[in-house]
This record gives sequence, C-alpha cells and structure tokens, in this order.
Amino acid sequence: MSVSIAYLSPFVPAEWIEAHGLRARRVEAEGGVSAAAGACPLATAFAQCASDRDAVVFTTTCDQMRRMAERCCIDPSRVFLMNVPATWETAGAFALYTAELRRLGRFMVRLGGIAPAAQQLATVMREHDIARRSGAVVVDGGTPVAMVGAPLRREDRWLFDCVNHAGGCVALDATEGGPRCWPAQFDERGMAADPLAELARKYFLTIPDAFRRPDTLLQEYLQREVALRTIRGVILVRYLWCDQWHAQLVRLKESLKIPVIEIDLGGQDHDLPRIRTRIESLIGILR
Ligand code: SF4
Repeated sequence: MSVSIAYLSPFVPAEWIEAHGLRARRVEAEGGVSAAAGACPLATAFAQCASDRDAVVFTTTCDQMRRMAERCCIDPSRVFLMNVPATWETAGAFALYTAELRRLGRFMVRLGGIAPAAQQLATVMREHDIARRSGAVVVDGGTPVAMVGAPLRREDRWLFDCVNHAGGCVALDATEGGPRCWPAQFDERGMAADPLAELARKYFLTIPDAFRRPDTLLQEYLQREVALRTIRGVILVRYLWCDQWHAQLVRLKESLKIPVIEIDLGGQDHDLPRIRTRIESLIGILR
C-alpha cells in the first residue's frame, strides 16, 4: 500500500502528491485541546489527527501551525514544513513557492514516491480539475448566509444544522476546504508548456486566504460571491487564539456592508448555547 501524506492547508496541492504515486489525505480534524492551553484548537486537532499517518505536511501560513510542526508526535524525518509566503505579488514569492513544491517532491521521493514525468502530472491535474468542477451545489430555501473562515473540525459541523433550524441556509460555504480554496482552472497551454509551473501559478496566485498580504483575493472573492448568491449576512468562524481570522471581522464589515457576526470555536461546551443564540439572532434580523 502506498504512503499516505496528511495535510490541511489548501496550498498543498493534492495533484503533486498523487503524481508521485502517494496518497493525498486532507485531514478532517477533530478534537484538539481546550483554548485554555493557549494553542489554536484546530492546529492542535490537526497535529493529533495527523500523528498516525505515514507523513505530514505542515505549512507556515500561521505561527500556530509552524509551532505544531515542531511539537507533533511523529518521527521528524516524516514531517515536512512547507514555506508558503504571505506576500504573493512578487516574482520572488512565486519562485519560493515553486521551489518549495520541488523540495516537497524530493521529500516524497525519499518516502518512496516517484518523481513524475510532466505528462503524468498533467493527467492528474486534469482529473482533479474535472472532479472540482463537477460538484453541483444544492442550496435549500431559507435566508441565505455565508459561512466564512478556517476549516471546521468534525464536531463544528453542527453549525450548518443550527443555521437551517434558525430558518437560514448556508448559500456560500467559504470555510477552508470548500470551493473558496480551490485553485482556478488549469490552462491547457500552461500544462503543455510546464505543468509544475501551471500548478504553482493556479495554487499560489488564485487561492484567497486570510493570511495573504495583501488579502485582496479574499475580499474580491467574497464580494463577488455575496452579490452572486444574494447573501444577506455572514457568520465568520474563527478558533480561539486565531488572530488571522479575527482580523477579518472589521475587514468584512467594511467591504461587504451586510451584517457580520463572529463565532468563536474551540472553547468550552457551555459556549454552544450562546453561539446558537447569536446565529438565531442574526437570521431573525435578516428575515
Ligand atoms: S485557525 Fe487560525 S491559528 Fe488556527 S491553524 Fe488556522 S490560521 Fe492558524
């Protein structure tokens, strides 16, 4: 059975892993320490869930994840910390990201992977592109809201039911892992010329995220999707100790000009009724 590589960040291309003959496993985190310990519950949950995998890729997209790469309970030779620069508009930042993909490739070869021929990589890229574009989005009736923020842990998915019970519907799931974090469609000419460069271009230059400087891709994506889906309000989900998503609260209020509430995840169970009440209040106001 081939080696499985665990990752969470959307800046780790599954295509690159699979083209090496390894299995790409994006982790749906669950658990994680209470926020009282001072660590992001999501980062902690990811490190715990990934610890029984063959190898793990962390990214430098936030300090918490960087720290988890040093503290996770897995043989260090099976941990890869990938540098993903926050700045993205310079040629130097793009070159660094591309170099990191090549370094990740050498890491995978050490684990038993095989460096792919260009055609092999392009084939895997096409398959992923088709899979991404074929998923039809079904939206139930109800007041349309957007869920924006970090990836949800398994135990946080009750938020979607909570929205539905309150009379709303999540018409835009912009949490991490959903369509917000998909790269733009690959270009056939780009793949024919140099598939790794095309992969890097679409991942590094088109995925919107809160850690990017500037964060214009995220603001533009949300403005476009909110208008397209006539979204009436936003639920910003952030984990305790996460400054990156917390900083988006003011940004989203200013740029979207619709009601935005922030939900803190990863605290104590007695916070849950308060979160439910806040969601019900938001949807009540929007009706
Ligand atoms: S939720 Fe925030 S602090 Fe936690 S891993 Fe994601 S970006 Fe980092």
